[in-house]
Amino acid sequence: MADCLFCKIVAGEIPSTKVYEDEQCLAFADTNPQAPRHVLVVPKKHFTDIGDLGQDAEAAAGLVAGIGGLARQEGFTDYRTVFNTGAGVGQSVFHVHAHVLSGRPMGWPPG
Ligand code: AMP
Ligand code: ZN
Repeated sequence: MADCLFCKIVAGEIPSTKVYEDEQCLAFADTNPQAPRHVLVVPKKHFTDIGDLGQDAEAAAGLVAGIGGLARQEGFTDYRTVFNTGAGVGQSVFHVHAHVLSGRPMGWPPG
């Protein structure tokens, strides 16, 4: 999609620190990390948010598989996966992405 930051990262038009890739997903380091490990997992195809993604069962399964593949590859045993949906809760890039955070204790509920 034109003018989408994460589509441009997927296309290689904007650099990123790639951590994991499979047929459907790309995972790269967040530039403003909130944990020692903070990786964003995105579907290569553009979806606006998790509600949009959920209308495509194959792509939704692909993103979940990508999160699992990233965790296995990186040896994450304890990690938190977050989807921000809507500007009111902090979504700033409207290409669905899973934040995968690991490497420090995290309380629940989150602050
Ligand atoms: P959200 O606020 O949930 O939409 O998450 C967007 C995330 O993208 C934020 O955590 C940003 O730090 C991160 N981000 C923004 N630009 C880049 C970039 N060029 N490369 C990697 N992460 C980015
Ligand atoms: Zn996009």
